Amino acid sequence: MKFATELIHGGNPIDPEHGSLSHPIYLSSTFAQHSMDHFGRYDYARSGNPTREALEEALAGLEKGATGLAFASGMAAIASTFLMFAPGDHLVVCEDVYGGTFRLLSTLLKGWGLQTTFVDATDTAAIAAAIRPETKALYLETPSNPLIKITDLPAAAALAREKGLLTIVDNTFMTPYLQRPLELGCDIVLHSGTKFINGHSDVICGFAVARDAEIGQRLRFIQNAFGAVLGPQDCWLVLRGLKTLKVRMEEHQASAKKIVSWLQGQPDVAKVYYPGLPEHPGYQTHLAQASGPGAVLSFELSSYELTKRLLEGVKLSAFAVSLGGVESILSYPAKMSHAAMPPAEREARGIKDTLVRLSVGLEDPDDLIADMDKILHR
Ligand SMILES: *Cc1c(COP(=O)(O)O)cnc(C)c1O
Repeated sequence: MKFATELIHGGNPIDPEHGSLSHPIYLSSTFAQHSMDHFGRYDYARSGNPTREALEEALAGLEKGATGLAFASGMAAIASTFLMFAPGDHLVVCEDVYGGTFRLLSTLLKGWGLQTTFVDATDTAAIAAAIRPETKALYLETPSNPLIKITDLPAAAALAREKGLLTIVDNTFMTPYLQRPLELGCDIVLHSGTKFINGHSDVICGFAVARDAEIGQRLRFIQNAFGAVLGPQDCWLVLRGLKTLKVRMEEHQASAKKIVSWLQGQPDVAKVYYPGLPEHPGYQTHLAQASGPGAVLSFELSSYELTKRLLEGVKLSAFAVSLGGVESILSYPAKMSHAAMPPAEREARGIKDTLVRLSVGLEDPDDLIADMDKILHR
């Protein structure tokens, strides 16, 4: 099945009895058993729920993995995955990792004894140099946030395999429509489903998809033991949002390309970060592992005053945290996604006070451009 077909028909209809095209929402917390010796497929809904299972199977199918798991948030999926490791273990993590992941690793998990080295993952040699005897995994995001840096996933996965490490990729920005890390040799894909996967800015959710069933089993054990599962009503909303993933991504991306061209012609825009630009240092690498540049871009303005004026003045793009919704969202990484990062650390990573990130929604791009144009040319 091609991707678009899988979006519509993937995720087994578990209850075909009445022919419902929309998957039923099973709100039950427990399921009655008929035999003392053999329990049915579902017993208690933390361990399994038919609505959640349909969504988990859909995600596993789209990412080409053996097992999919739905969590209460992207951070719940990420934190649960880190529970595969033990105190004393070491991870090599891309330095511009999502702010919440940075916070989790540098506070809670550091206190628990999980060690992390942050590296410039655009440089495979830097990843290799950070590997220690106690290293257990590489943790990557590409394109990264907010500077849209590109990591060579096949090269990183090959290195990890050679050293006996797992490769974990947060694929939130790309979605399986544009990039499938498991097909590139990585072991676990994570998502903040809150973003493009659900796509309608109305659910907080997360996913983990494992390439092989053995790792899937370990994650399923953690999902049940730790218990950060996604509720059935939210699962249903995501099942619904997912059906339009392809058409949304195509439209988001076409508009993003148009906005990028416009931004490049603006004298007050100092720099544009987008993996669809041939001058982007990761352009070739991205092109080789993803089928498109996506719809998240960042740009630097010429002054702090103009940055403030744009963020406070835009009418169509919401000035907000998050991305991947049908509504365009302009965000300010220094005080939003990367607020948890100390200012010195942030500056060192190139996240300036004049940097804004745009997640291009499904509005007409001409309207989005006119909205920003008014402020830049005031
Ligand atoms: C939003 C986000 C997360 C966290 O997901 P939540 O659903 O907010 O918990 C993790 N990684 C990336 C890349 C994100 O954008």
